[in-house]
Amino acid sequence: MLLDQNIRKWLINFFGSNVRFDEPMSKHTYYKIGGPAEAFVTPGSFEQLTELVSWSEEKNIPYIVIGDGSNLLVRDKGIQGIVIVLTKCLDKVSRIKSENESVIITAMAGVRTQTLCRFAIEKGLSGMNFALGIPGTVGGAIMMNAGTSLGSISDILESVNVLPSSGPVLKIEKDDIDFSYRNLSWKNEMIIPGNGDPIILEGFFRLGMSDTLQLKKEADIILKKKNESQPTKMPGAGCFFKNPPSGKTAGQLIDMAGLKGARVGGAEISAKHANFIVNTGNASASEILSLMQLVQETVFHKFNINLLPEVKIVGI
Ligand SMILES: Cc1cc2nc3c(=O)[nH]c(=O)nc-3n(C[C@H](O)[C@H](O)[C@H](O)COP(=O)(O)OP(=O)(O)OC[C@H]3O[C@@H](n4cnc5c(N)ncnc54)[C@H](O)[C@@H]3O)c2cc1C
Repeated sequence: MLLDQNIRKWLINFFGSNVRFDEPMSKHTYYKIGGPAEAFVTPGSFEQLTELVSWSEEKNIPYIVIGDGSNLLVRDKGIQGIVIVLTKCLDKVSRIKSENESVIITAMAGVRTQTLCRFAIEKGLSGMNFALGIPGTVGGAIMMNAGTSLGSISDILESVNVLPSSGPVLKIEKDDIDFSYRNLSWKNEMIIPGNGDPIILEGFFRLGMSDTLQLKKEADIILKKKNESQPTKMPGAGCFFKNPPSGKTAGQLIDMAGLKGARVGGAEISAKHANFIVNTGNASASEILSLMQLVQETVFHKFNINLLPEVKIVGI
């Protein structure tokens, strides 16, 4: 345990009902899995967030910012330190300006990606439909460079505002961000003071001008296809493994290895989409991880390919 009574007192005084202790992370992940977070804080304002970050740094308390937990597997013994969620304090999306043939909009990190998609459709702005059906928040989507075969966040992102672990808010332009498949890293880490990854506060996106009716038609087709091909109703975290850089997709390799339907306890490889490891009811994180290992070993043995998880695995 890292948080003693004094620390807990400070958190209660400062955050009141916005802090919970020993909060089961199974309540905050799409997997419905995960041991307790020592403290779970939902800051009510940007000022509360900055105060929490500088106080945690000063006291040397680890913290992690999460979105909706739709790409997260929390281990069974939970998370030491503080889990921070931004959905209360950073929840605005707005149009900033028109530029030539495009429009710049901003969405704060706590906004749901689907809210941003709907906003774009309602305003007749194109470029966001690729993200239809991707759960989670804008912060999580930027961090994961979320996307589909139709596009990804890096196609439309112009810049981000981040909060480093020390110092003021920084604006980072797209040129200073290295985007790769379902991943983001900062090109020049020296420009970001403090330790570790900064917190993403908001993204600025460049969208095209289109027509709401046309975008809605496109949206219906995209969502229908997603629901038909993925087990979206089962607790899980989307595609578990990253696709290898070339050749077959992770799902195809797992299918060819004969692993569809394979189980460890309550963890199962979906029969609908082989790259989904789902929780059939009462799976533990360690069962999901054992199944992950079984997939990795089998695929490596058969095809000499090392599958890497796309899902972020956190906790102890
Ligand atoms: C049914 C289903 C379908 C899915 N389909 C897709 C898909 O088609 N394409 C796709 O790319 N993904 C897909 N996913 C995965 C997931 O929805 C995306 O990765 C999503 O963008 C994650 O957002 P989140 O807010 O839930 O992030 P979380 O899962 O909460 O966090 C993901 C990572 O981002 C970090 N993070 C979150 N917010 C911040 C922030 N503000 N600052 C710094 N770090 C932050 C977290 O620490 C963590 O490391 C799917 C998941 C499910 C369950």
